[in-house]
Amino acid sequence: MTVDAVLFDLDDTLYPYDPCNEAGRRAAFETYRDRGGGLDADAFEARRARARAATKREVPATASSHNRHIYYARVVADLPGPFDAGLARALGDAYWDAYLDEMRPFDDALDTLATLREANVDVAVVTNLTTRVQLRKLARLGVDRHLDALVTSEEVGREKPAAPVFTTALARLDRTPSEALVVGNSPRNDIEGGNALGMETALFNGPADATGGAGGDPAGLRTPDHRLDSLAAVTEVAL
Ligand SMILES: [Mg+2]
Repeated sequence: MTVDAVLFDLDDTLYPYDPCNEAGRRAAFETYRDRGGGLDADAFEARRARARAATKREVPATASSHNRHIYYARVVADLPGPFDAGLARALGDAYWDAYLDEMRPFDDALDTLATLREANVDVAVVTNLTTRVQLRKLARLGVDRHLDALVTSEEVGREKPAAPVFTTALARLDRTPSEALVVGNSPRNDIEGGNALGMETALFNGPADATGGAGGDPAGLRTPDHRLDSLAAVTEVAL
């Protein structure tokens, strides 16, 4: 098929997430310890994980559910003594600063975006998180100069796989679903979300068994139209 627009997921699609997340968590703990915190790394991590789980339980499927400053503010609020807002902010900032330092695009990511746009294919990033953080990531990766649009779940108030992130991107590009390809790593968020709107879908860096993964319901998930071994293969599907 040839398409007029490609909607890319960001996290774990244009760069690997895990090393960045690990670097961020490590930096947040180091900041906590440098400011005199008494918990050891395991105890601190247990509290972070508990705060994350509580946030995801209380505000599921929102951009806030991924907000590290919310997680760390909850950790700090549970420490003995008065609430230390400066510490809470410092932990969240340390997380994201280290995360961004660690970021590297996947091989072929930037070349692929450039090739698509040279072929007059519109390129957007459609992503579940807050806009400020995703803007930092795009700039850090150097992806921003290859984009026609960015849509975050924060700005539309719903998360993928719900339609608004995708439909808002299509509206901004003045494209219809049948003109667009979605590329992402999540069978649930990207593949099912894209297919539900009638868009072509391509799974990259997802689970080998694309009917599972990401905590979704295996039986209810649609399979991708394409599976990609590299981002460069996007051009073979799209052009
Ligand atoms: Mg992703």
